[in-house]
Amino acid sequence: MLDQHAIDTLRQHTVPAQKLFIDGDWRAGNGGTLDVISPIDGNVLTTIERATAQDMEGAIASARQAFDDGRWSRMAPAGRKKVLHRLADLIEREALALSVLGVRDNGTEINMAFKAEAGSAASTFRYYAEAIDKVFGEIAPTADDILALVHKEPVGVVGAIVPWNFPLMIGSWKIAPALAAGNSMVLKPAETASLSLLRLAELASEAGLPDGVLNVVTGKGSVVGEVLGLSMDVDVLAFTGSGPTGRRLLEYSARSNLKRCYLELGGKSPNIVFADAPDLDRAAKVSASGIFRNSGQVCVAGSRLLVQRDIHDDFVAALAKNAEGFSVGDPLDLASDIGAVNSLVQLEGNIGFVETAQKEGAERVTGGSRILEETGGYYMEPTVLTGVKSGDTIAQKEVFGPVLAVITFDTEEEAVAIANDSDFGLAGAVWTADLSRAHRMIRKVKTGVIHVNTYGGADGTVPLGGVKQSGNGHDKSLHALDKYVDLKTAWIQL
Ligand code: NAD
Repeated sequence: MLDQHAIDTLRQHTVPAQKLFIDGDWRAGNGGTLDVISPIDGNVLTTIERATAQDMEGAIASARQAFDDGRWSRMAPAGRKKVLHRLADLIEREALALSVLGVRDNGTEINMAFKAEAGSAASTFRYYAEAIDKVFGEIAPTADDILALVHKEPVGVVGAIVPWNFPLMIGSWKIAPALAAGNSMVLKPAETASLSLLRLAELASEAGLPDGVLNVVTGKGSVVGEVLGLSMDVDVLAFTGSGPTGRRLLEYSARSNLKRCYLELGGKSPNIVFADAPDLDRAAKVSASGIFRNSGQVCVAGSRLLVQRDIHDDFVAALAKNAEGFSVGDPLDLASDIGAVNSLVQLEGNIGFVETAQKEGAERVTGGSRILEETGGYYMEPTVLTGVKSGDTIAQKEVFGPVLAVITFDTEEEAVAIANDSDFGLAGAVWTADLSRAHRMIRKVKTGVIHVNTYGGADGTVPLGGVKQSGNGHDKSLHALDKYVDLKTAWIQL
């Protein structure tokens, strides 16, 4: 149970101007600073360095040197495990402070941040710490006079570029397996959510991670992100963010050293409710949370609701009631269910999507507006739009905000066709009491994740990633380790 007094004390702390974390130390950049605007009240919270190409090249050189001299890459896995466990301990020790810092930076409601950011980061580091001395190579079943060994080697320098919605959680999904496997890293956080990741790097150093193994460079994606993408010294790019940036990373790779790019991109996930769903009240409640938590800024958010015609009106009414029941407000107030939208740009984009949907014929059932403007912060009502057609902008484009598009269907075949009428394929859900239908839908809906009779369940043991234009390569689970190792075959004539 979180303590409001402790949160209020932490939110008063002045956040000092931030530096770059390179080679185990804080360094000033060469490009001036960027203001960090808190979405809670629109005030300047602190500044981060606006790193230059030269700063980023310095960080990459530091990671390269650390990898090549073996200070971490050749440490016994059991040694790496100890450091990563110590880091998990430190994250737990600092969990509330890290969470409050992150919330002041990105606006996520504190209960969720505590669990999904600090809590998830600690458990992710523990998971890969535990795994790394249990995952090893193979001896292939070759002819008797041959010994064929399949080694798993760290790839070298991993560049990680992450977004602002859950920086600590998504950052840890990349950092923990990459470090566990023995790589060095350069991390580029989003401009509007750098603070908790800078602190994480400092904690990693305190935990005993050798200097230069984890470097954090803040600044403009279009400047330092590009340098990271084009570098001949970066061997893998691990990215979560938007489709257009993902495409750029593939171009950078093609123009440089053909580095592997793992892209976790957006979604427009279909949440499909059949009339025979076991508990429609629960389905309405979970569906509302599945789109509106964290103001809809969740990559797997169920942003397209497909409802069977017979139950459409009752289900939409129940869902709208749930939406109106959420308390939107100060994300550091434990009584709030939903915090702030990350930035003014994002908020204005959300409102623009609602206006476009209405012009294209959708009806606004609830929400649609900015609220609490007097606070200076960026808050938006949970919004439900009905009468949406599958080809409409609101059904095709990712809003990444608290906006739900409701589409009606009659038959199972039609539900499948609408669900798959999307460039994206990240997540989805089906609600039905018919076991055979549930399994048919699991097979037919083209997404990386599908839920049945729930929305949004997840665990570190199961992979998360998309198909189609939602990207490739999965975070989480033992499968994620494969992204950060190379296979090397040794063929020995006996
Ligand atoms: P974004 O693509 O604008 O930015 C993501 C990161 O890329 C930031 O660190 C940014 O600085 C950097 N970047 C921007 N331009 C760059 C460039 N030219 N070269 C290199 N790096 C560059 O995305 P965003 O707005 O920060 O994040 C929201 C998006 O992330 C949404 O589309 C959302 O669906 C997606 N997302 C996906 C997942 C997933 O697991 N699939 C999870 C969370 C968010």
